[in-house]
Amino acid sequence: MFRIGKEEIDAVARVIESRQLFRSNHANQEVVHFEAEWAAKMGAAYSLCVSGGTCALIAALVGLEIGPGDEVLVPGYTFMATATAVLAVGAIPVLVEIDDSLTIDPEDLVRKITAETRAIIPVHINGWPANMDRIMELARQHGLAVVEDACQSDGGSYKNKRLGSIGDVGCFSFNHYKIISAGEGGALVTNNKTAYERAMVYHDAGTQFRPYKDELSVPIFLGAQYRVSEIIGAILRVQLERLDGILADLHRVKHSIMSELAGAENISFIRSNDVNGDCCSVLGFSFANPSMAREFAKSDGVNGIVTIDSGKHVYANWDPLLEKRGGHCDAVNPFLMSRNQGLRCEYARDMLPQTLERLNRSVIVHMNPDWQDDQIELVANSCRQAALNLTQATHEQDLREGK
Ligand SMILES: *Cc1c(COP(=O)(O)O)cnc(C)c1O
Repeated sequence: MFRIGKEEIDAVARVIESRQLFRSNHANQEVVHFEAEWAAKMGAAYSLCVSGGTCALIAALVGLEIGPGDEVLVPGYTFMATATAVLAVGAIPVLVEIDDSLTIDPEDLVRKITAETRAIIPVHINGWPANMDRIMELARQHGLAVVEDACQSDGGSYKNKRLGSIGDVGCFSFNHYKIISAGEGGALVTNNKTAYERAMVYHDAGTQFRPYKDELSVPIFLGAQYRVSEIIGAILRVQLERLDGILADLHRVKHSIMSELAGAENISFIRSNDVNGDCCSVLGFSFANPSMAREFAKSDGVNGIVTIDSGKHVYANWDPLLEKRGGHCDAVNPFLMSRNQGLRCEYARDMLPQTLERLNRSVIVHMNPDWQDDQIELVANSCRQAALNLTQATHEQDLREGK
């Protein structure tokens, strides 16, 4: 969460004073307004607000009728929820390499598509747009659905289209760590009416509270309970008003630092699929080898993270998946379901060597939209100095090794 204040407090106070905290069935409600505003902002026909990004992914997959017997392609560098959402609907996640943009690698995607593949989940990790042109082209060629995981990229874009609005369904998170936040929360957007209605039915445990349940074109089935309260809706409406300002300031900060570092020794940025659409919440560096990355990340004033250390964002740490604990009991564990026998359920911690290799020598530095010139200068200087020191360290190493 970047910015929050008096406006959110006032919005929450209004909800409490109204004594209407539940998303009921009348149109003049915070959550209902937020959905319309989010859909308009994202350039999609429909939006559904749910209690988290994971819920949005699950509801999206349910919306697209993905389940047991289906393989879904997900990158090996993303928050674990991208893959576990696939298991939550009974389908099998198949892991795909990342390329030099650290987003899903279209070349490996092609290799991983089989007759059982139903969908691709590209992830706009760190606010960085995935290669949507290639992904959409492949999806069309092979008749696959595309669910964009835009949980880390609220408001970003790819070739002037909002991230999340390009595939069949786009999923967003508003948890504490995302670009806009209500502590928890999420949303999906789509132009597919059936997917929207199915997601709506699913998120509302049978839609008993919807006035328009009689107008649905899909049959009602049982689902989960992912509804959000009016308090979340009220906060999100204010956060949405802040979104453009946050993105503009992140852009200013990241691009100032990048231009200060342009041409500096040992500095190389992670390639972007669309520089203008980048949310700019994270600056990524690529180094020649892992020891340089590690040295740089821990240098004074850099506050970097070697991406391989991103915990549950790296597939090698997705224990429930790797150990095939895909459900709370055997009967609902997708790995044991009869319809999934014969799908690609084999995982290993070293199965994506290209991903591990890239993550081992990449460093991410988080940006802050409220940094002013002095802070920008400090970060840029720290990075420049840290990168310069690497040459010295490498030189000394070579001397020790007698090169
Ligand atoms: C945060 C995140 C999610 C899950 O969002 P929650 O709101 O925590 O459920 C999914 N995918 C990615 C890439 C994320 O960063």
